[in-house]
Amino acid sequence: MTIKHHIPDALMLEYASGRLPEPFALVVAAHVSLCDECRARLAAHEMAGGAVMEAHEGAELSGDLRNNVMAMLDDAVEEAPVYERSGIFPAPVMEALKGRPPKWKPLGRGVRQSILSHNTSGSVRLLYIPPGLDMPEHTHGGLELTLVLQGAFSDEGGRFGVGDVEVADDDVDHQPIAEKGEACICLAATDASLKFNSFLPKLFQPIFRI
Ligand SMILES: [Zn+2]
Repeated sequence: MTIKHHIPDALMLEYASGRLPEPFALVVAAHVSLCDECRARLAAHEMAGGAVMEAHEGAELSGDLRNNVMAMLDDAVEEAPVYERSGIFPAPVMEALKGRPPKWKPLGRGVRQSILSHNTSGSVRLLYIPPGLDMPEHTHGGLELTLVLQGAFSDEGGRFGVGDVEVADDDVDHQPIAEKGEACICLAATDASLKFNSFLPKLFQPIFRI
């Protein structure tokens, strides 16, 4: 796997500091699990965060706190399940799927989606795009992050294969086309509804909407 499109530094910094909304954080976590280069960059950001914490003057805590914490350490802990990569789905995606296969919903023209989460901070879903299909041209009301898990697509931003992540914002006006051969399966996070440019593609807006 040759990854050409990575997580931009500004987004990585937000992710490392825990400020990135959950839908985008899932895409970053999934990319990092596939990309050695971004894993190393994330580790560097986290080290910088650790240095900041160490240099920080501590705050006074109440006297009982230490004893209370030590007492709680003996409590029985319910272990959270650990999810592993399964097929094309990286571990963070399997965690979002709670270990189960995605529930695909048809959206027309052979396109399918499986919504992983949807809340006020945005939504994140798996998209299945048949080989050779062109998606409607659209711009964005906010940020859109797309990670390819299978196959490939191309648009004005270039070619995106497995592991590549596309970052599109308000300024981007694009029309992704799935490569011929294998269906393209992506993990896509958005923080706002997309705006379509012509009347007909509005029919396809439900692709990106809940
Ligand atoms: Zn990367």
